Amino acid sequence: MKRILIPALMAALTCLPQLSFAWGAEGHQTVGAIADQLLVGTKAGAQVKALLGDTSLEKIAVWADCVKGISPEKDFAYTSTGRYPECAQFETASGIAAMADYVRRNNTNCNPAFDEENCHKQYHYADVALQHDHYETGLAGTSDHDVVHAIQAAILVLEDKPQPKPFQFKDKHEALAVLAHYVGDIHQPLHVGSVFLDAAGKKVNPDEGHYDHGTNTIGGNALQCPCGNLHALWDDIPQQFKHGRMNDMLAKKAHAVAKPAAAIDQWPVLWANDAIHDAKTVFNGTQFSQSTPNKRGNNWSIALPLEYEKTMQNVKEDALVRAGAHLAQVLQAIWPE
Ligand SMILES: [Zn+2]
Repeated sequence: MKRILIPALMAALTCLPQLSFAWGAEGHQTVGAIADQLLVGTKAGAQVKALLGDTSLEKIAVWADCVKGISPEKDFAYTSTGRYPECAQFETASGIAAMADYVRRNNTNCNPAFDEENCHKQYHYADVALQHDHYETGLAGTSDHDVVHAIQAAILVLEDKPQPKPFQFKDKHEALAVLAHYVGDIHQPLHVGSVFLDAAGKKVNPDEGHYDHGTNTIGGNALQCPCGNLHALWDDIPQQFKHGRMNDMLAKKAHAVAKPAAAIDQWPVLWANDAIHDAKTVFNGTQFSQSTPNKRGNNWSIALPLEYEKTMQNVKEDALVRAGAHLAQVLQAIWPE
């Protein structure tokens, strides 16, 4: 039997704090900051300013995570006051009312199954099995309210077109806020690509035969490494890109990112395809233990290959740059010169 060697391989990996928010606030702020910079002096930049007023893409990019502080089970009260510094800007009476209003509209509108999250939380991701090379609606882990569809819906609202069900984005301001966030999420490899495992830790394809929901590793949330879960490890970003360190190197690289030749509504699909490609890199050389079921479902240990931290840094940097560039590109496609 294969034994998984975890502690020795992991010793070199710095333990990072657990993050409950996707990409962490810094990742989303970095993506927004890159786009803010690329849009200086453009018509799209002026439109963004007209919608956001005193705020910026960098600041608003965390809003879709901050709204998770609204608790439907507590009559839609905001229960995270003071907990996340990046959300403080929204913790005014009118800001909290706006968050509660958004969550009320986007809570059960997708008819979540008993084991699924509230709808607006599902807007942030898809879980496409890595046996696939491409995102396709209908695959296990996709839905009409996954991150690809959420981005498409937000774009439509900004284009003054009707949004598809089940989305309930109130206006352009709200659509821009969530778009700035989801474009960040869709570039985080574990927000799109997922590994599905049986109880023995062997990879399975959920699109062949019966799909057992218990095989879903939930974007790495059910994969434990000594530093916590794999998803959290990926949500943190390299120190040099933390808030306030937006630098010329990132902007320069973002400037060089080519605009897709496809129609704008297909862009999120192309971005998802790239994320699936990145997710394959992320899981390259990893090994899984047998599952140890806990209260929340199945859990597996993951052993990471040597040099994993380097792989992770490279993929993250590239993903953040592309996300920032793509956010600016999509806004310029909505509001061309
Ligand atoms: Zn998110």
